[in-house]
Amino acid sequence: MRSAVLNTILFPLLLCVSPAELRAEEPVENLVLITLDGLRSEEVFSGADERLMIPELGVKDRAAWLERYGGDSPQQRRRRLLPFLWSRIEKNQAWIAGSLQADSSVKVTNGRYFSYPGYNEVLCGFGDPQIDSNDKKYNENITVLEFLNNQPEFVGSVQAFCSWDVFPFIINDQRSHIPVNAGWMPLTSGDENRLEVLNNVAKNLFHEWEGVRYDVLTSSAAIECMRHEQPRVLYVSLGETDDWAHAGRYDRYLLTAEQNDRFIQQLWAATQQIPQYRDKTAFIISTDHGRGDGREGWKSHGVDYPGSDRIWIAAFGAGISARGIDQGGEFTQSQIAATVAQLLGYDFTQVDSRIAPALDILTVPLQAVDK
Ligand SMILES: [Zn+2]
Repeated sequence: MRSAVLNTILFPLLLCVSPAELRAEEPVENLVLITLDGLRSEEVFSGADERLMIPELGVKDRAAWLERYGGDSPQQRRRRLLPFLWSRIEKNQAWIAGSLQADSSVKVTNGRYFSYPGYNEVLCGFGDPQIDSNDKKYNENITVLEFLNNQPEFVGSVQAFCSWDVFPFIINDQRSHIPVNAGWMPLTSGDENRLEVLNNVAKNLFHEWEGVRYDVLTSSAAIECMRHEQPRVLYVSLGETDDWAHAGRYDRYLLTAEQNDRFIQQLWAATQQIPQYRDKTAFIISTDHGRGDGREGWKSHGVDYPGSDRIWIAAFGAGISARGIDQGGEFTQSQIAATVAQLLGYDFTQVDSRIAPALDILTVPLQAVDK
């Protein structure tokens, strides 16, 4: 531990060597995009739904769960469920949209409200009516990740870590040449000893799902990769919230949401420790679809479940105008892709006329693509 005397000497020194403030007119250096599969805006903005905290949905000890996630107000409950995200929003260090209470709307436009169409919309910037299943088919559309990986300054500096094993197809790893570590694939980027432990756990722990790896493995892998390879664009797709919801386990859906928030905190903390990322990295967080409501409806999503088209988007870090909770705005899932590109200095909307414009929350004006 440092002595107080040493602190008085070191602190001004540290201030001197810290990097210059990022100028608003410059694109940010790095971007982290995170999606949490099927996490409803209901829980994001109002925390745990006490009507769903019942034994039939896995909540056996209601008193203990109320203690953990309950509260007298939506503000208190959401702080208990997603403490890191809400601490940033409450300190005006982040932006979030999609709150019904604030009359803020983020709509899915693909008309399907399930995963592959949703991830295509997030990553490609438009809803594609041709994508009508979650089948493992290579995506014909170009994701913003592929678009960036084709730019000379980003080539080889885009990576994806995904819990769901359909992602190599959604990102079209064959054509895009983006490394997509998904499903139960062995982990290969990071500290050798840590990877050995993680791979051993992945191999020997009971697999609840064939096609979805536990999020803790995906998120640990992403942090390892960030420390080891320092990609400039990192996509992390976590999946368990959706699977526990389909299984009717509200207890595990809540636990996973909290665990995902802890991961986002760890990843953010890692960016603040690594000079390449510190104060030069934007985070965007969202989801592929909403879900229905009520004791049965919350388990599912799709055209038959009203509410599945309502999602949320959060953003913080370099290049983001951190205005707290959006009031009365109207946004779409399809705007995320162009936002990712614009933060890094590119206009993705030029690629295809169907691509929606970037969210107007950036302090980074559009840069000429051919610079
Ligand atoms: Zn689902």
